[in-house]
Amino acid sequence: MKFCKRCLLPETYPKLKINEDGLCNACEQYDEKWKHFDPNKAKSEFEKRIREITKRGEKVVVTCSGGIDSSYVAFLCKRKYNLDVIGANFNHGFVTDTAKNNLARIRETLNIPIIEITPDLEIMYRLYRDFLLATGDFCTPCCQGCCRSGFIVARNNNARTIIHGGVSGSRVEFNVLGMLRHHYDRFMKYAKNNYPTDKLQKIVTPTSEISEFNLIALPQYFDWDEDNIIGILQKEIGWETMPNGRTRHVDCLVAEVSDFLLQKKFGFSKRWMTISANIRAGLIDTETGRIKIKEEEEKIQQEPVDAMNILLEKLKLTREELYSLPFYKCEPAVRYL
Ligand SMILES: [Zn+2]
Repeated sequence: MKFCKRCLLPETYPKLKINEDGLCNACEQYDEKWKHFDPNKAKSEFEKRIREITKRGEKVVVTCSGGIDSSYVAFLCKRKYNLDVIGANFNHGFVTDTAKNNLARIRETLNIPIIEITPDLEIMYRLYRDFLLATGDFCTPCCQGCCRSGFIVARNNNARTIIHGGVSGSRVEFNVLGMLRHHYDRFMKYAKNNYPTDKLQKIVTPTSEISEFNLIALPQYFDWDEDNIIGILQKEIGWETMPNGRTRHVDCLVAEVSDFLLQKKFGFSKRWMTISANIRAGLIDTETGRIKIKEEEEKIQQEPVDAMNILLEKLKLTREELYSLPFYKCEPAVRYL
């Protein structure tokens, strides 16, 4: 199996092409897109926008899950920029105690009110089930809902700016509007004919509404070094990891199942893509990335039994039904890395 010699994406990645120098098209596109990017200039532009918001006396909305990225966004907005922040939290039906504790810390330590948006959870579980059966993974309805909570809270509080944590360190993923539209299209493809519109109201944002707000992905303007961020959050707000030490996606009870299934579907998980994006962005070198990818991908080769039981129960599926789906045919690419 071939891998990009720089970012280490495997050739099983959808539409990946590796050129004769061993570089993949994701790396080439990245270089083309970001070759004129000046982080200092970007940051001063961002700070100018922040000053204007403050001058107008506007509130900003931060979408908060209790996970690492959004907690750090809340921290920076409040402590570094002294913004008038309201948190928006989406109850996706698999919220962990760790996330609840972290949200409580954000409320108490940073003095940020957090408004919870809870959709009809029976509808959420049905959506997860439909997505899982149709595509082999189940995260899209939650991605939609997390964004949706930001728009609802912004509208109800006359805020025009929504700030979020985006994808950690990944400059390639910063096309937020493109990403939202892509997810919206993917979402509606499966949901539109099978769910009453009013039931989806707290879950999905119509694309026409998106352009009414300014969206800011904070990792574009700051060094987004995960270990460093965890250290700051633990010290400053008492942020917690999962009881088993997991630091990623502490906001979701079934995140490990998602990674496990993605590895079976594509040969690699989301974690691999994030590490590759971090290499591409120059935040870690290729060899460090290789060690991290091996560590992370090897951890998810065994079924996470407890998390799987929770998912199957809520989605009213059996293991046999799940494993007989036609999507899980890849062996883990990490075996050849
Ligand atoms: Zn590459």
